[in-house]
Amino acid sequence: MSDLTGKIALVTGATRGIGAEIAFDLGRRGATVAVNYRGDDAGARSVLARLGEIGCAGDSDAFVGDVADAASSTALVSAIVERYGRLDVVVNNAGITRDGLLVRMSDDDWDSVITTNLSGAFFVTRAAAKFMMKQRSGAIINISSVVGLVGNAGQANYAAAKAGLIGLTKSVARELASRNVRVNAIAPGFIETDMTGSLPESARDAALGSIAMKRFGSPADIAAAVAFLASDEATYVTGQVLAVDGGMTFA
Ligand code: NAP
Repeated sequence: MSDLTGKIALVTGATRGIGAEIAFDLGRRGATVAVNYRGDDAGARSVLARLGEIGCAGDSDAFVGDVADAASSTALVSAIVERYGRLDVVVNNAGITRDGLLVRMSDDDWDSVITTNLSGAFFVTRAAAKFMMKQRSGAIINISSVVGLVGNAGQANYAAAKAGLIGLTKSVARELASRNVRVNAIAPGFIETDMTGSLPESARDAALGSIAMKRFGSPADIAAAVAFLASDEATYVTGQVLAVDGGMTFA
């Protein structure tokens, strides 16, 4: 099991779903976790309570911040560095969907998804990189999507943001490599969370048909991949996109 003892980790959008599981898993492996929320502080507290139940809460805490807002993202990172004195791992997980066919997609649906899912990761990464470069170490993990690799009808905004996140990952990996800061992306397939729970049965059946392993993934599947990329076992891995999708997209 990847050991993260002593590391300070920020997980954005960690109140539920994949983010909550990543935060719990990093804490379980010994990291001190900054559990980010934008409004649902009870969700963040429940992650900390889960860690408390297994004796791993340590100095982990909840930190408010809206990643869609540049100033809020900068303040979030500053608050964590001020509190702990360092920042070793950033998981850009916060994300939303506003699905719709292209010709009916509103400007607002386009903008809100790009702002949260792509600009949000940029705001947080820019703020964190300044500290990590001085620290001469760090791991940034961006939660993209298989949709960013292959596209999806009805998700032009989401696919564009998630593909953009891959470009951001590779560019920043090149910029920060000499400072020993690694930047990787994970492309989850169909993971059982609130985000996918509201999809119609027909969409779920269609997705299942495209998965070689014939089952949906769980947030724990994504958390395990994050833990590896965050750990010292991955010190020679940067600029990569790891699909965790049960064989949905391999060529
Ligand atoms: P989810 O259950 O809808 O959770 C999304 C999380 O993001 C929530 O904690 C939400 O907080 C937070 N969030 C949204 N906007 C935010 C903002 N502006 N600032 C801070 N936090 C914000 O989604 P999920 O399924 O766990 O997905 C997590 C990530 O994985 C997303 O980036 C998603 O695109 C990606 N992903 C998911 C799947 C899947 O199949 N589920 C597949 C591929 C990729 P609130 O509670 O305040 O809303």
